[in-house]
Amino acid sequence: MSSAKDDAMGAREAPEGCIMALDAGTTSVRAILFDEYGRKVAVAQRPLTMHYPHPGWVEQDPVEILSAQVACMIEVQFKSGIHSDRIHAIGITNQRETVIVWDRQTGQPIYDAVVWQCRRTADAVAEIVEDGYGDLIRERTGLVPDAYFSATKITWILDNVEGAREMANAGELMCGTVDTWLIYNLTRGEVHATDYTNASRTMLFDIHRLDWDDDLCEIFRVPRSMLPEARPSSGSFGEVSPDIMRNHPRITGVAGDQQASLFGHCCFAPGSVKNTYGTGCFMLMNLGPKPVMSSNGLVTTIGIAEGGRVDYALEGSVFQAGSVIQWLRDGLRLIDDAAQTAKIASSVPDTDGCYVVPAFTGLGAPWWRSDARGVIAGITRGTDRARLVRAACESMAYQTYDVLKAMEADSGRSLSSLNVDGGAANNPFIMQFQADLLGMDVVRAASAETTALGAAYLAGLACGFWADRDELAGLAEDEKTYAPNMSPERAAALLEGWHEAVRRTLA
Ligand code: ADP
Repeated sequence: MSSAKDDAMGAREAPEGCIMALDAGTTSVRAILFDEYGRKVAVAQRPLTMHYPHPGWVEQDPVEILSAQVACMIEVQFKSGIHSDRIHAIGITNQRETVIVWDRQTGQPIYDAVVWQCRRTADAVAEIVEDGYGDLIRERTGLVPDAYFSATKITWILDNVEGAREMANAGELMCGTVDTWLIYNLTRGEVHATDYTNASRTMLFDIHRLDWDDDLCEIFRVPRSMLPEARPSSGSFGEVSPDIMRNHPRITGVAGDQQASLFGHCCFAPGSVKNTYGTGCFMLMNLGPKPVMSSNGLVTTIGIAEGGRVDYALEGSVFQAGSVIQWLRDGLRLIDDAAQTAKIASSVPDTDGCYVVPAFTGLGAPWWRSDARGVIAGITRGTDRARLVRAACESMAYQTYDVLKAMEADSGRSLSSLNVDGGAANNPFIMQFQADLLGMDVVRAASAETTALGAAYLAGLACGFWADRDELAGLAEDEKTYAPNMSPERAAALLEGWHEAVRRTLA
């Protein structure tokens, strides 16, 4: 007798149809085929070059992003033998906030993509806040005014590329985030659109009215005529041109990477939360149809825009998470590779009071102190390699704890479990410690591709490949659940030590 799972495995060899997800990340782009069971069938990947023309500046070549993405779309078809006649639809997920400005006539970018990490407009944002616009920005966009979001990056291009301001005023320029750039080019200029989740990261979008905001366009001096049409995440974004894919599949799903991951985790119910442990950590909580403004340093954003409704989300980011492990490897040379850390950390019962607070570039949510710098606290003669590695691993869990508590406070909900993904979620020590600190289950999804899967789900719902959210929730499999296994008293004592160490980074 064959189970549903066996059937799925069988179907995996020769799926009748697939959804293609384009995952346009910061360091690489990928095209992934998913079958009807949400299983990854094939993947193609290309790295992207990062340019650092000045300290704190980060750029990418928009044409490289596009051509690498198209190369992946072609390669994954050849690799799998599944061609565009069996690809029902395309979903796009992307690095958020990064912006590209191009000539409406020629389609050529007038400057490189200014990447979300780029700090070149920090002073410009400070000035706008000094001018008294901070509250308006917070109220309308749900965001904390910051150079990280797109608005001032567009302004910078218009002010610094020769002739750009005049062209923009004459309606001769277009702009967009990476999703928009891909859609525009894949449809050969037919569609200039973005989705609500990406729009909500630009600092130009009113998340309550679901429209670009004229006042914000004026404050940031971005002509509205440049902006794409904002649409729900699941629906029509045009057809891929037949000279790129022969059967010109439709693009029917678009979402920013963290929101796509929220959807890929099936965090459909208000109060459900996912945390991605990558270079940094990104935590999102589904708030349902009513936005909640944070009083704890989180941002409010559009979480899911599918099925005729919008669910808002609270988002908190930790800047240094997996990067702390990279620092152990490349900076301190205490380890050879990241995966070693679980064994080393578990070789000692505790850190013996040692804490690493990795405020390398300041602290994010809920502290928001860009002037904070890292601390290793509580060093004794007994602090050895294993304890230091353990303290570095634990720092990811402590920082996540602080963001999650801020979310609980803002939303008035207490959580019962945390869904996780990302590279460092593969570390069993960190995940167990996380469950212990939080006193709740930490659940890792079976699919390591929840972000791309979320984009595929959005596309597949729009084209009828999947019927509804219930069907998607039925596909999801949890790979591993970490249950808490520490007394609340011990967790509280450890947290007290952590917060004492955090205070030292702020001093
Ligand atoms: P990103 O999408 O930000 O590039 P990934 O989700 O690929 O990140 O995760 C990579 C990060 O996770 C790196 O910073 C790496 O140091 C960390 N990492 C990967 N594997 C492990 C592990 N087993 N234990 C701890 N950290 C890990």
